[in-house]
Amino acid sequence: MKKTLMFLVCFLFLCGCKQTTADKLMKLGYSEEDINLIEKLSEENQNLFLEDYKETELSYLYQPDFREENLEEYLNYHGLLDQERVVRLVNEGILNKDSFIKLFELYNHPYFIEKNEEKYLRYLNEYDSLRDMIEIVNTQRDRELFTGIESVDLSKGDLMLVNKYYQLSEDYVPDDLVNVEEGYGRGRLKKNAYEAFVQMADDAYKFGYDLRVVSSFRSYSYQEGLYNSYLKYDTLENVDSYSARAGHSEHQTGLAIDVSVPGVSLDDFYKTEAAKWVDENCYKYGFIVRYQDNKKDITGYIDEPWHIRYLNKEIAADVYKRGITYDEYYACFIE
Ligand SMILES: [Zn+2]
Repeated sequence: MKKTLMFLVCFLFLCGCKQTTADKLMKLGYSEEDINLIEKLSEENQNLFLEDYKETELSYLYQPDFREENLEEYLNYHGLLDQERVVRLVNEGILNKDSFIKLFELYNHPYFIEKNEEKYLRYLNEYDSLRDMIEIVNTQRDRELFTGIESVDLSKGDLMLVNKYYQLSEDYVPDDLVNVEEGYGRGRLKKNAYEAFVQMADDAYKFGYDLRVVSSFRSYSYQEGLYNSYLKYDTLENVDSYSARAGHSEHQTGLAIDVSVPGVSLDDFYKTEAAKWVDENCYKYGFIVRYQDNKKDITGYIDEPWHIRYLNKEIAADVYKRGITYDEYYACFIE
């Protein structure tokens, strides 16, 4: 009788010790929901969770696209990229030890634009320089010029973007054009741009530079005539590098000015000290030199040190400081 009792006690004791995996997990602090997910894993992976409460590992089990065979790979990149992104890129075979550094730089790049992600990934290995690739994608220069043309977003006001991909309508005329007064040049400009120019010209004069507006607002039809007149004696490709097609000219916004000093043609303006002063100081008045020599491939225009574009003081200073084109600045910070 005694023996039977002892046997029964031992039996019950042993039963109590034989815990299931679920029991062990629960003791470690996993919830029922966690346990359900863990129990779907292979034994080897389940054991990982039996060591202690694995918060990081667990978080991957909750990702909608979680694939068990990639768990180890996810963990390699944990915390370095956004978790959802790690799962997606590892699953697609894009994120691996060879591509990791480039992808890390890409996703942390100051000019990374979310909506361009697919293109960045497509071109990731096509360019030697990641920065060049980002710039090309952001400014849409992976497309032929004048393809997929969109309307200029007028709601952006003085910050609107006009280029070879963004066009103004035939009837667009700024509503607050004012005349350029004698002594400052000729033509008409949007009020804000004109007032900023007067301030700049007055300050420049103190340094001995007599800045004048040589060309200002141009209507759609005027630009059309101008562009066509160049076409009479030059190739289309050449003309597109120095003259805008109708609707694609910043001059139609009333915010752009071709500037020079008396007796100096636009082509020779770059030789003057005044040009240097404009280049270094115009941002203080809200202007940028829009078409720079080192950005020809991006803007599609030759170097135009005489063509300044009004934005506002804050944005112009930021564009100047960053040394990027307004096309890219707009895509990153305004659009
Ligand atoms: Zn111009």
